[in-house]
Parts: sequence; structure tokens; C-alpha cells
Amino acid sequence: MIVMKFGGTSVESAAAIERVGGIVQSRRTRRPVVVVSAMGKTTNKLLAIAEAAMKGGRAEYIRQIQDLRDFHSREARQVVPLDHRAELDRTLDEHFQELTELVKGLAVLGELTPRSIDAISSYGERLSSYIVTLAFRHFGMAAEHLDSRRVILTDKRHTQAAPNFPETYRRLAATVPGLARDSVVVMGGFIASAEDGVTTTLGRGGSDFTAAIVGAGIGAEEIQIWTDVDGMLTADPTILSGGHRVKTISFAEAAELAYFGAKVLHPATVVPAIEKNIPVLILNSRRPEVPGTRIVSEHVPSGNAVKSIACKRKIALLNIHSTRMLMAHGFLRRIFEVFDRFETPVDMVATSEVSVSLTIDNLQRLDAIAAELRQFAEVDTETDQVIVCLVGENIRYTPGVARRVFGALDGINIRMISQGASLLNLSLVVAEKDLHRAVVALHEEFFTELDPAVFERNEAVHA
Ligand code: ADP
Ligand code: ASP
Ligand code: MG
Repeated sequence: MIVMKFGGTSVESAAAIERVGGIVQSRRTRRPVVVVSAMGKTTNKLLAIAEAAMKGGRAEYIRQIQDLRDFHSREARQVVPLDHRAELDRTLDEHFQELTELVKGLAVLGELTPRSIDAISSYGERLSSYIVTLAFRHFGMAAEHLDSRRVILTDKRHTQAAPNFPETYRRLAATVPGLARDSVVVMGGFIASAEDGVTTTLGRGGSDFTAAIVGAGIGAEEIQIWTDVDGMLTADPTILSGGHRVKTISFAEAAELAYFGAKVLHPATVVPAIEKNIPVLILNSRRPEVPGTRIVSEHVPSGNAVKSIACKRKIALLNIHSTRMLMAHGFLRRIFEVFDRFETPVDMVATSEVSVSLTIDNLQRLDAIAAELRQFAEVDTETDQVIVCLVGENIRYTPGVARRVFGALDGINIRMISQGASLLNLSLVVAEKDLHRAVVALHEEFFTELDPAVFERNEAVHA
């Protein structure tokens, strides 16, 4: 068995779903279990509907729900055979009526809880998985829909739920292999349920995580993440177009890149895959012939020190100065207690005798945190900062990386730098306005020469 996960753009339209059908069909003998995201930007739209309901604009959210229904209906009708149209319409009606009732109820209450956010955002994957199942049958494949909420069990941390692995693995192993014997199993990513059956979600981008959980639970030989890029690239394509494809990367490097902002993979994805040593592939559903990126458990030797550059945007930098002349003992503990109390993780830290600089990416409690810290320290906060993170297991074995970074970034104000904590990254903080220039300079410095065993050169970049 293999797990094939298709992201939002890969199922965004009838044409995209047809491409997916072809890709799955050609791998039919490997007994694929398919995990799909919501179609296109559906999750964002569902969240916008919830927001509109909070603002009380009834006409507005009803219109948005109608638009979303029209979109699903229009695309689905093209991939569902005529004799299934009535069933399709009935199911869409049921789902959208339920959704409308739910949203109306929330509008009356005027309060949006994480639990209701999950209830609303679950509709995207519930609909897409159902539509893709019907489409596969239309394309001539035996396909079975499996409601992920029946098998993926989580705690009740709505919008960020954590799986109960033993129970989830038990249910997956009991359900999926039997279904996959004769049919392509289709499941929605992202959605799950708590023990009492209430719908939960695994966090934004969580369908990758679902794929890995399913892969681990059924002992898949491979987990394929099909997306809209050729694989893991040497730079975030939204910042620098034309990065090179990384052919092979280690689990540790991929996890680090994901954590530091490479959206192509959800940060939790590799954990179940590592535990069961299942290779993960990142592939392009628009260009299925490209071999993509293979994520493997072992170290990947490379002539290049760096494998890729990730960026984590919209972070805040806090500079905290001890109000005494010298840092008293217990100062760091007091600082970190504040972040702990506000449940805000700290990403990077640098300390000197009298001051501490650190970054956070969850800015919700920033003001409250700063106020609390000001009780015993001077604090200044700067938003619109970015962590730029060079990742590669070779960084620690290669002398002169820091010198090359400083050389490349000559003239750019580096606000903070950290190397060593994880041994495979070198991270620095720059202002958002310097981001593009910094990434271009670093990319040129570290990827002009490429180890052909590890990278596939994108000729466009140096044209
Ligand atoms: P999906 O909907 O398939 O899950 P995502 O949008 O979540 O797709 O992830 C794919 C996107 O990740 C790409 O379109 C790209 O913009 C972004 N991305 C960020 N960093 C990288 C990187 N280093 N390599 C490839 N893609 C990256
Ligand atoms: N649909 C969800 C999201 O947009 C999950 C995913 O696509 O991975 O976040
Ligand atoms: Mg994604």
C-alpha cells in the first residue's frame, strides 16, 4: 500500500481532479490510499464565512455559502456521471444546509469558539473526499470513501488537535487494508474527531500530517505528497522563483525546513514517517513525470553545505534588557516563565550579559507579554521581522559558512543570528523589507555550484 496525498491546488477544479484520477490510476497496483485536502482555497473561504457571521452580515455570509456551494457543484458535476448527479446534489444540499444552520446559530450567539471553527472548516475535506470518490468511480476505478473522523482520533485541542496515536493506528489497521484490497480508499485530510465524536482538525496544512499518520498506521511502503511544485526547492518560490529541486533530503532536514516555514510540508508530517521509517516523496501533480524530492531516514551526503533556505515571516523580535546593570541570576527563568504563562513558544534566543533577544511567531499575546516583561525589564518589540534559515546537515562540518553568510549579506542589517542549537541550521533575523534581497544573495552564495547527486538545476534561475 502507498498513501497519496493531494493538496488543495491538486483538487481545485474538475480538470485538476481528472489529473489526480490519472495519477492514481497509473499507480493502482500499489494499492493507493488517497488523502485529499479541501478543494482550492475552500478552507480559507469557510473561515471567512465564520468571520462574516461574527460581524452579523447575514446577507454576506449567506452569499458566501452560496458561492461555495456553486463552486463545488460546478466542478463536481463535470467529474461525476449523470446517473450519480441526483446523489451528488442531495449530498451537497445536505452538507450546505447543515453548514448554513451552523453558521446562523453562531451568528446569533456572536461567539466563535475553536470547536465551532473546527466544525465549520471540516466541511472542505468532507466535501472534497466525497467528490473525489465519485469522480474516481466515474473514471472507472473502484473507490471507497472513508470518513477520517472515524479513524483519526485526537485530543480536544480544537484547531490544533494532537492525535491519539495508539488508538488511531489501531483503527486504521483494522479498517483500511481490508478496504484497500479491492478499492482505492479516499479520505479527507486535516479532519479528525475527539473521543466523544466531536469534530477536530489537525491545524492549517494538516492534510500532510493525516497522510503520514495513515501511512504509519497501515505500514505503507511510501507516503507521497502531491502538490503544486516540483518538490522541495532550494528557496521558497514565493520569495525567489526558480530555486533548484532538491532530489533527496533527510527527515531531519525536511522537518527543520518545514518548521522554519517551508509550507510545502506540514512540520508534524515527518514524525510518524520517521518512527516507521517510511520514505516520503514530494511530487508535482501538474508534472507527475518529475521525480520530486525523496525524504529518507539516513544522512544525505552532499557537496553543498546548505540544502535549502526557509523563511518564517511575520515574526516579532523582542529585545529585553535587564533593568539592573548586570543580569541577575533567575532573569532568564523569569523571562521564559512569562512566555510559558501566555502559551507562546519562543523560536530563537540570543543572550548577552545584560540583554536577551528572542523571536516569537504567535503574535496574539505580544502586547500582554511585553507588559508583563516590563515589570522587571526594559523591552522593545519589533514586528515585520523574518527568520531566514539555512538548513543542511553539512553546515556543521563545513568551515566558513558564517563567513559566507555575512559576506553575502553585506549591507543588510542582520538583527539576530543563531547557529548550533539544532546543529543543522543557521538562522538569522532580518526585517521584512530586506527579505528578498537577503534570500537572493544567500541563494547565489550557496547554490551557484550544485552537487548533481543531490540537486537538479533549474536553468531558469541563472538565465
Ligand atoms: P498543498 O495545497 O499541496 O498542501 P501548499 O501550498 O501547502 O500546497 O505547499 C506548497 C507550496 O509551498 C508551494 O506552492 C510553495 O509556494 C511553498 N513553499 C515554500 N517553501 C518551499 C520550498 N522550499 N520548496 C517548495 N515549495 C515551497
Ligand atoms: N485544507 C486545510 C488547510 O487549508 C488542510 C490542508 O490543506 O492541508 O489548511
Ligand atoms: Mg499544504
